[in-house]
Amino acid sequence: MTKISFYNGLREIGGTFVIVETEEARCMFDFGFAVSGRMDAKMRTRKNDFAADYVGLGALAAANGIYEEYTAHKTGLVPYGKEDKECFFVISHMHIDHMGGLGCLHPDIPVYMSADSYKLYRRIAANGEAQHREHKNCIGVKYGDEFTVGDIRVKVVAVDHDVVGACGFLITTPEGTICYTGDYRFHGFHPERSEAFGKTCAGADVLITEGVTASFEDVDMLSLSGPVEGGRTEEDLQKELALLSCEEKGLLVVNPYNRNVERLHRMVGTFRENGRMLLLDTISADYVSAFYPQDEIVIYKETYDAVQGMEKTAAARNLPAAWKVVSREEVIAEPSKYAMLLDYADMYELLDLKEAAPRYVHMDGGPLGAYDPSYAKLKAFLEACDIFYDYKGIGGHAEPYYLRKMVDAIAPKTLIPLHSFRPEQVESDMAGQRILPSYGDSYALENGTIRKL
Ligand SMILES: [Zn+2]
Ligand SMILES: [Zn+2]
Repeated sequence: MTKISFYNGLREIGGTFVIVETEEARCMFDFGFAVSGRMDAKMRTRKNDFAADYVGLGALAAANGIYEEYTAHKTGLVPYGKEDKECFFVISHMHIDHMGGLGCLHPDIPVYMSADSYKLYRRIAANGEAQHREHKNCIGVKYGDEFTVGDIRVKVVAVDHDVVGACGFLITTPEGTICYTGDYRFHGFHPERSEAFGKTCAGADVLITEGVTASFEDVDMLSLSGPVEGGRTEEDLQKELALLSCEEKGLLVVNPYNRNVERLHRMVGTFRENGRMLLLDTISADYVSAFYPQDEIVIYKETYDAVQGMEKTAAARNLPAAWKVVSREEVIAEPSKYAMLLDYADMYELLDLKEAAPRYVHMDGGPLGAYDPSYAKLKAFLEACDIFYDYKGIGGHAEPYYLRKMVDAIAPKTLIPLHSFRPEQVESDMAGQRILPSYGDSYALENGTIRKL
């Protein structure tokens, strides 16, 4: 029998945790934090107890066979290595709500991810951005490749999302196939990847899909006949930046999400073609140069100085000789020659640049939106500096029409929407049945058909 069990992330956006278990192995995905509203960076994490504390808080799943002895003992669970099955993780992408908990796992548990996610994860860790510690036993798998653990075969299938390396998984067990989309969209640089995911997974017995965009408004998914008119794409954003680059007289300050490395790479080119140089901070520069070594990297000296010598930031320890450095004085002397990536952590720099910087372009960098208390502070700060707040976010999630299109394309026997405040709004006539599990629910998959245990 194949057993599928559901824990965190079912009726929220974050912390999805599902277990697919066979006679020989146990496959788990993803491993970010759930109920992140209960967490605050201002609370000190306890040195030996952070993993147990997150389990206690409900942010990480109370699951057997994944934690270290100490954590497992404290939470009443079986530690990693003491189960009679091979336990492993598959991680869909490098967004914190899907991978933030990796540093809490037993360091030996195998964690599979796409080859590009692996590359990014190693850079995230080298820059001190991995929570708690870097998980050592990660395995990068190329898009389209498969691997096998016990009697579970997993194919890594690319999707388009606003982070490099995003993928979903097609999981084959002796009793049937399960596909998990991770997060995806059709308005990124590679809509063909999301389309191909649907084709690769067509006919799967079980489809587990994200449903983020069905969260906020009433959606009658079955009645949608096409995408919303004027839905902007990543390519549109590049055009908008090109236009701003020409029209704006002063410095353009931008706040993109730096794990969307392809966008950063495209911005380097778009700004250069339109007479500007994009100034990066060291972490963003490190990501761009890891994936696009041919790109010309220019660092803003002030944000570099702020982290220089910090043990945790790889590039700040050893700035590559090929990288250029531009000073504040140079920016103020000729602001229209530059665009600047400014992380929220570096906001105070705007006090010295406000005369030169009329516009702040917020494009999916943190703080993302009103649910984050820092968002109001960001806006208040800009207002105090008299800098225009220009929201140009694109987002990483397929709009409702495309959520349905994906389900239609796969036409699974069983549809299981999650990663949404309102998963019940995700519907398709092409799905045999739909299940909306609650925390702790388990189902048996036998001969491709699912039944509640
Ligand atoms: Zn997500
Ligand atoms: Zn995501």
